[in-house]
Amino acid sequence: MKKRIVAFRRLTDRHLEQLSERFHVDYFPDLESADDPAFREALGEAHGLVGASLGITPELLDGAPHLEAIASISVGYDNYPVDELTRRDILLCNTPDVLTETTADTGFSLIMATARRVVELADFIKRGDWQESIGASLYGTDVHGKTLGMVGLGRIGAAVARRGALGFGMNVLYTHASPKPALEAELGARRCEFDELLESADFVCVSVPLTAETTHLFGAEQFARMRSSAIFINIARGKVVDEAALIAALETGEIRAAGLDVFEREPLPGDSPLPHMANVVALPHIGSATHETRTAMAQRAVDNITLALNGERPISLVNEAAWERRQG
Ligand code: NAP
Repeated sequence: MKKRIVAFRRLTDRHLEQLSERFHVDYFPDLESADDPAFREALGEAHGLVGASLGITPELLDGAPHLEAIASISVGYDNYPVDELTRRDILLCNTPDVLTETTADTGFSLIMATARRVVELADFIKRGDWQESIGASLYGTDVHGKTLGMVGLGRIGAAVARRGALGFGMNVLYTHASPKPALEAELGARRCEFDELLESADFVCVSVPLTAETTHLFGAEQFARMRSSAIFINIARGKVVDEAALIAALETGEIRAAGLDVFEREPLPGDSPLPHMANVVALPHIGSATHETRTAMAQRAVDNITLALNGERPISLVNEAAWERRQG
């Protein structure tokens, strides 16, 4: 008998076919809430889960007694209770690597857009305000040759740093990462304390995972340490930042600008001031959102769940301990 999968994110026909060839698939392309009764019922029979952006709770897992594996269509796994999954011998798989360069492109576009005021000045033209040569009040700031402070220098952080160092001649500092001698040799990057990075970087770019330690890593104290000319970029997770403190720092000119792909609450609430601030470029969590990369991520998730439910090691496994327990 075929094992059963619940897919709770829109998939291409090709990916659905691949899954359906091997498994019985209950498909919820537009699932809005984990409380959906049909979703809950399907979960009760499921051996595998494929999807993204849904908070998976221990209570939800209680209703999924046959679950063997989850394939998240994301690299970040802050939505999942990893220890609880491991305790229940449930494999958790993610999609690293295939989204690294695309997410770094997003990060660098935020660096460029904030520094050169691209969105603000495009809006300026759209409003019909370009009546004469622009003056110094609309000048931006250079990117090339500046100091890029990377908070986290993993796959995505390194890809952003590579763009900065090799493409734009930037000096790279990094913190909140173990020593990276190969990147230091390749990019001339230098590891330093968090405070030193905050005080000396022209661009502070966050690319750490959201964990208990990184929650509100940035608050009023950190923004106060940054230069008043500094630009803050977040392509990690919104909760790494105390958003109220960020808004205050942007309003008072404690920092120059921010480029944000992620927010404490997503979708961004309608009353958030952030998208309306001239010195903010806000994007709707598009880090990996290209046709090519979203397809590659879905394929990785399909491959991961297929391997896992066949008793084989998935390509990208978050909780190695669950795999070992299942083998033992
Ligand atoms: P990664 O390769 O694991 O890199 C994470 C980096 O953060 C590493 O340098 C790591 O240090 C460092 N780090 C700092 N504090 C940490 C902590 N408390 N726990 C673990 N690592 C810590 O991950 P990645 O592939 O670059 O992805 C980074 C994050 O970006 C993801 O977790 C996800 O939340 C986010 N992301 C966002 C988007 C988007 O759409 N905006 C897209 C993809 C990913 P070490 O080098 O010492 O391990």
